[in-house]
Amino acid sequence: MEYGCLIGGEWLEGDREIVVENPYDGSEVGRVLAPEVDVEALLKDAREGQRRWRERPTYEVREALAEAAHLLKKHEDELAELIALEGGKPIRDARYEVYRTREVLRLSAAEAERLYGETLPGDAQRGRTAELILTVREPVGVVLSITPYNFPLLLPTHKLGPALAARCSVVHKPATVTPLSSLRLAEILLDAGVEPLALQVVVGPGAELGEELARADFDALSFTGSRSVGEHLREISPIPRITLELGGNDPVIVDETADVEAAAEAAVRGACYHAGQVCIAVERAIVVEDVYEEFLEAAVEVAESLKVGDPLDEDTDVGPLIDDGAVEKVRRHVEDAVERGAEILTGGEPEGRLFPPTVLADVPEDALVAREETFGPVLPVIRAKDFEEAIRIANSTDYGLHAAVFTERLDRAVKATRKLEAGGVIVNESTIYRADYMPFGGVKASGVGREGVPQAVREFTEEKTVVIGRR
Ligand code: NAD
Repeated sequence: MEYGCLIGGEWLEGDREIVVENPYDGSEVGRVLAPEVDVEALLKDAREGQRRWRERPTYEVREALAEAAHLLKKHEDELAELIALEGGKPIRDARYEVYRTREVLRLSAAEAERLYGETLPGDAQRGRTAELILTVREPVGVVLSITPYNFPLLLPTHKLGPALAARCSVVHKPATVTPLSSLRLAEILLDAGVEPLALQVVVGPGAELGEELARADFDALSFTGSRSVGEHLREISPIPRITLELGGNDPVIVDETADVEAAAEAAVRGACYHAGQVCIAVERAIVVEDVYEEFLEAAVEVAESLKVGDPLDEDTDVGPLIDDGAVEKVRRHVEDAVERGAEILTGGEPEGRLFPPTVLADVPEDALVAREETFGPVLPVIRAKDFEEAIRIANSTDYGLHAAVFTERLDRAVKATRKLEAGGVIVNESTIYRADYMPFGGVKASGVGREGVPQAVREFTEEKTVVIGRR
């Protein structure tokens, strides 16, 4: 597989060779021959592309996005295999990613014809005598999209679909290790009828190309990735509207009334999905004293039942981590927890890039694994005296993406939804629960702004107020 970049409506090749490797066995999946990028020229084309795209009738925009969803279905097997090969995601989960991506395009198509405003009375205040006040929604302009490696098809589409539905144009920079899904997606969007100048895809190292783009004169930046890069972009970027979807350290609280087996199953599966490389993966279980031992026993059983191996095998549950650096980080977090008194109940030792599902007991609150994002298949279990203490521990990190609570008590479920500092609180399901139409995003160090197709469309539009005078 060989790609150039999509620039100015054309596929251009250049001298910078980016080899994409399968994280499972290091074999080559494909390469990108990236040309030098002239950011001013990109922006000029993007402005012209936005003008043209905006002139298209609504039904054409809707039909192009719906057609892209249809084409994704047609190429489902090929796309799932590509996600599994370049990202190491188990094939069943890769297929589900393709399905969700289709859904994002379907929802974006629907939003394209729902860019409604409001009507207000013109004369509801003394001295104000207009006939009518209206609001209309207008596109913000040119959007810069920067995405991470872990959902190489879905996360780019969460930006491209809503931005195009809002009649913006987009310059997209995918993660350098998993660019092929984005490039294939761009081909599909153009085949479906999207204005070629309204979508450009460039590939290159984040610290160079990403940084150069983020310093340029875009109208909006939509970034998904790590906390450190997100915070850096907030400092250096002049772009006036910035959405940041960053990392998390998502807790699952289990109280003494909970269905402990169901909670343990959800916590372990939520910690190990895509080898833990998910922003809303379960990063901590906080379990009250009374059911602590029972939870550990059930968690170990689930962890040991998961199959680790080749992402292309239909029965693989846990594939490889993305690179050696990721393995080192997870290993360091586990070692640090052990040094601080935690016990490894199962797992702990990687084989190459395969890290086995790992359950850690008696993890102290100050362990790295309990404070920072581990992004690996590790479930640290923290003991809490009671429900109140569990809530305090859950809120004790810098992050605030999702938080979950397992309880049979309605008052506690309600209390948790009010007290937990998170963008989303999930009751009796794992933190990893996300439907693509629901508002999604973080508080505290987990980011600003909301995604979810309708919410992202809102972020990419500006409300304009129109006053119709009385004559
Ligand atoms: P990353 O921050 O290393 O990279 C993300 C993107 O930013 C890549 O395209 C990269 O090339 C680019 N980049 C890197 N340095 C840059 C710079 N200086 N300027 C501009 N762009 C730059 O993240 P990653 O390792 O690819 O992904 C994992 C992280 O993403 C985790 O922290 C995870 O929690 C987070 N994430 C968050 C969400 C969410 O919705 N909140 C979803 C998925 C992943």
